[in-house]
Amino acid sequence: MKVARIYDFHDIRIEEMPLPEVGPREALVQAKACGVCSGDVTPWYIKRKAPIVLGHEPAGVIAAVGAEVDKFKVGDRVFVHHHAPCFNCRQCEKGNYVQCAVWKATKIIPGGIAEYFLVPETNLANDTLKLPDSISFEDGALTEPTACSVKSIKRSNLKPGDTILIIGLGIMGQMNVLLAKHYGAGKIIGADLVDYRCERAREFGADVVINPTREDLVERLSAETEGKLADVVIVGPGSAPVMDLGIRCAAKGGTVVFFMGTPPEETLTVKPFHLYFNEISLVSSYSCGPDDTREALDLIEKGVITAEKLVTHRYPLHETTAAFEKMAEAREVLKALVVFP
Ligand SMILES: [Zn+2]
Ligand SMILES: [Zn+2]
Repeated sequence: MKVARIYDFHDIRIEEMPLPEVGPREALVQAKACGVCSGDVTPWYIKRKAPIVLGHEPAGVIAAVGAEVDKFKVGDRVFVHHHAPCFNCRQCEKGNYVQCAVWKATKIIPGGIAEYFLVPETNLANDTLKLPDSISFEDGALTEPTACSVKSIKRSNLKPGDTILIIGLGIMGQMNVLLAKHYGAGKIIGADLVDYRCERAREFGADVVINPTREDLVERLSAETEGKLADVVIVGPGSAPVMDLGIRCAAKGGTVVFFMGTPPEETLTVKPFHLYFNEISLVSSYSCGPDDTREALDLIEKGVITAEKLVTHRYPLHETTAAFEKMAEAREVLKALVVFP
């Protein structure tokens, strides 16, 4: 089978690999669509992981199952989560699935941007979902990113009628706009440096969009909210200066969600006085668990999130480099998928 292995940011090679052997409680999936994640195109992240077959947003068809598998059969259309928790440890009991040691250790083999991939026992048992007939493989490939958005909205403590500011309107920001609308946000305000993204956010339900290259974000937000600022701020970019900006945009009693990670050495200076007396909560939202993927698939089935709205570019496997470059450009693109015949 062919796989796309990334060695460095502009060095992705299509290589041959033997088909993985399927154990008694495992399954082999023939890939049909796999998203290129905004995180996958972050140079510092690639450098830590390379060489590796990336792709953790796959959907496909079960091509083989082990003798002891009874939940799935050959021909089932599925979304597979690349990480799955044990459901037995203290972190799992608390619902902190991504902090489960098993969650961190699990992965699909070799990765989602490959013609076939192996689904190990835990992933198959604990976070592989059958796709409803009404949704396409491209829709199915949006399950994982949608689930990350579901989790961030949950952690934001968004209440109906709240003003929400979404900083960064790439694919994840657009999903956050769509979900904020779905979950009953009052005023939805989006901010991005790229006009195309601002326009798309407006189509998806943002009431106000702000391009900080042209106007001061805090001033405009203040004008839009009678000086109250935003009850919820979701900071997309994994960058300390933007996180700091996000904190300055939060209303009294508000919550600031850090959606993406920063490089390990990055530091953020905060004023405890400001956080304390205004009771501003800082929360992070990293990846997603099996509760979130189920909710995400439900939202996709309802048509809240669809590939038709969000997938702007599609590439065959041998053009994976172009798919990564398009996502990394972060201009007139929302989601790029690698698609398989
Ligand atoms: Zn992702
Ligand atoms: Zn666990």
